[in-house]
Amino acid sequence: MSIETPANTDMEKLVSLCRRRGFIFPSSEIYGGLSSCWDYGPLGVELKRNIKNAWWREMVQKRDDVVGIDSSILMHPRTWQASGHLEGFSDPLAECKGCHRRWRTDQLAGEECPECGGELTEPQMFNLMFKTFMGPVEDASSIVYLRPETAQGIFVNFQNVVTTTRKKLPFGIAQIGKSFRNEITTGNFIFRSREFEQMEIEYFVKPGTDKGWFDYWLRECYGWYQKMGIREKNLRLRQHMKHELAHYALDCYDIDYLFPMGWSELEGIANRGNFDITQHASYSGKSLSYWDEESKEQITPYVIEPSAGVDRALLAFLCDAYAEEPDKDETRVILHLHRELAPVKTAVLPLSKKEPVAKKAEEVYSELRQHWVTGYDEAQSIGRRYRRQDEIGTPFCVTIDFQTLDDNQVTVRERDSMNQIRVPIKSLRETLSAKLDGEDFFVLPAGGQIWKQEN
Ligand code: ATP
Repeated sequence: MSIETPANTDMEKLVSLCRRRGFIFPSSEIYGGLSSCWDYGPLGVELKRNIKNAWWREMVQKRDDVVGIDSSILMHPRTWQASGHLEGFSDPLAECKGCHRRWRTDQLAGEECPECGGELTEPQMFNLMFKTFMGPVEDASSIVYLRPETAQGIFVNFQNVVTTTRKKLPFGIAQIGKSFRNEITTGNFIFRSREFEQMEIEYFVKPGTDKGWFDYWLRECYGWYQKMGIREKNLRLRQHMKHELAHYALDCYDIDYLFPMGWSELEGIANRGNFDITQHASYSGKSLSYWDEESKEQITPYVIEPSAGVDRALLAFLCDAYAEEPDKDETRVILHLHRELAPVKTAVLPLSKKEPVAKKAEEVYSELRQHWVTGYDEAQSIGRRYRRQDEIGTPFCVTIDFQTLDDNQVTVRERDSMNQIRVPIKSLRETLSAKLDGEDFFVLPAGGQIWKQEN
């Protein structure tokens, strides 16, 4: 079935919010944009970075059985022979004889062109890898490919990591980086683009223990999205049917998210058996087996592969966080982003642009931004400014008013509840830091007080 964006207000509103507030712009927009390529603006880059950092922290740094690498995008062309991408990384493509639009026939419900109902040509297999040339001569011997996944950079470094880290099975190697696919049908905003980022782990295990580890990684990956705030009702696990599995894959699940266009893949988790290691050993002529101290024999590890997309995760986090709430005669648009993901953590809002209040506010601003991303907004009414921060998901606003000049206290307002507390400036950083770590909003520092409780 085709998954072109149906008329869907939520997605439209989200795209417009992203454009208007500087999360995401069409690539090379001044030249009319480049199909299915996107640029992340000042807020988008912070959000994306926070997603990658949260994932890396959880999947690599907090664990002692996963290490990271950062391999190059251009790889030896033999890599793609060994991995099967040159041969098999293709989709069936057909062209409409009427309007000349191209379609992936495996995604179409019927046999006609979904656009104009015209007749389609016989499908041809179309390789999704982008080609370029290495060096000055553009001939067949200098063809290299932009990687279509980060995984192969991990497999070719398997032996390097084993010898340099002395990791014992089971252990994993993780990588975050750009991948490129010359997708035939793109669309749904950043859901399917031609240049995107992936977060992948290859987790190497002893043969025979793979099923248990597969279940383990399913739970870990699914749990991460929940931990980062995605509501359970919008997540599901979908097991691949036999005919969907690659010939070497023993099992595969997708973690799906209920995007505005329907349930779609957020991340895939596959039990790849020993296919990759065996293939690279055979094509490179190097031994990639692993000496198992316990059984005193060489083994070829099995691998469990969680493979997530950064941009898809970002879209899911935005979709899940977006809400419109009635607010007197207006609507409050709010991004309920998890504190760890919010692009701006705190915003300083002086109630007056004039000297004493503004000066105090600038002092607070320059202190807070040493610790986390902090905004400053002095334009228009305080209500408007709160709305602007709600719309980009800023968890806490700090208001400096005339009373601050007397008592050296500021008001802190929480995004989701709109509750407010009054906090001495000297304990402001500590208080906000604790709240950003998840402390209850009404836990007060010495001298602090509850200022306003919405419900
Ligand atoms: P799809 O069927 O949606 O094209 P896939 O099954 O080909 O995805 P994988 O090869 O399993 O995707 O890639 C792993 C992850 O990388 C996907 O779950 C997704 O999050 C991300 N990803 C893959 N292709 C794209 C793309 N064109 N744009 C954005 N993210 C992508």
